[in-house]
Amino acid sequence: MRPRAAVFLDRDGTLIEDVGALRDPADIRIFPDTLSALRLLRSRFMLFVVTNQCWVGEGLLSHAEVDAVHRALDGLLRAGGVRIAAWYVCPHARGTHCACRKPEPALLHRAAREHNIRLDASLIIGDHPSDVLTGCADGVRGVYVLTGHGEKHREGVPAGTPVFRDLGEAAHWIDGIARAEL
Ligand SMILES: [Mg+2]
Ligand SMILES: [Zn+2]
Repeated sequence: MRPRAAVFLDRDGTLIEDVGALRDPADIRIFPDTLSALRLLRSRFMLFVVTNQCWVGEGLLSHAEVDAVHRALDGLLRAGGVRIAAWYVCPHARGTHCACRKPEPALLHRAAREHNIRLDASLIIGDHPSDVLTGCADGVRGVYVLTGHGEKHREGVPAGTPVFRDLGEAAHWIDGIARAEL
């Protein structure tokens, strides 16, 4: 099987509202354009969620609670015709210098290994500068959205990063360049 391109998706502030430590699946607030955006991307890209959940390492959330939220969100996405190939979580507290907390690239490397992904043909979308920096040394292209904390951290975004109002606009832009590059 030849390597495929991926879109790596931040969770909080990108797919759903960022409410901090999200424990109860009932508190998931999916953004209105999340499903249509992912449906636009699904034919050309494998989709992955890559999320920093430092609250686990800080004792505020359990692995089981994070898993339950991901099962529920995965159910919402599947019902809308979207399949996430894998959910990758960094559970480590801030400041522990693990290899997997974005912008560290370990979870993207793992996806590349486990799913035969070509990182230099892939993109990552997020609402924090650390998202768009993740994997940049491997050629992953960062795309910034202004939802979630996006507006607040806008000045920290590396020059040249494409910035969009929301995931819907980002997906249309990605779809356009993917078509043009074929
Ligand atoms: Mg985020
Ligand atoms: Zn980690």
